[in-house]
Amino acid sequence: MSGNGTRQPEFAAWETHAEQAKFTNPARGETVRGLGCSEAVSFGNTGFTYVSGQVELNGPVLQRMSAELGTEQVRAVIEHEVGHVVGLDHVNDPSHVMNPSETPGVVSFGAGDLTGLSLLGQGKCRPDP
Ligand SMILES: [Zn+2]
Repeated sequence: MSGNGTRQPEFAAWETHAEQAKFTNPARGETVRGLGCSEAVSFGNTGFTYVSGQVELNGPVLQRMSAELGTEQVRAVIEHEVGHVVGLDHVNDPSHVMNPSETPGVVSFGAGDLTGLSLLGQGKCRPDP
């Protein structure tokens, strides 16, 4: 909360199924561990620029994951969601953090993940309009 009583947006939020209905994916019959998204806006005809983003983490599920698989596996979930915030999409390779299904033991970005991050990092920063 800020001094004037309004809630400031948070980059990361720990939530439960009761707080975030999207943590349940009935179509795939699975529980979602986290969500990451960003908002892009267009400044004329110069393409889109990411202006904000947020990660929502399924606290109870990640707490269980931490106990069963270790904190490194939870960190990989967070890296996956932050990857979405900065513009990475899913990949099919299960040895990469950006694969949509966590693979036990895959706890850091793979070569393809890093290549994607490098390409995204080459984009131009835009000054405030
Ligand atoms: Zn994802």
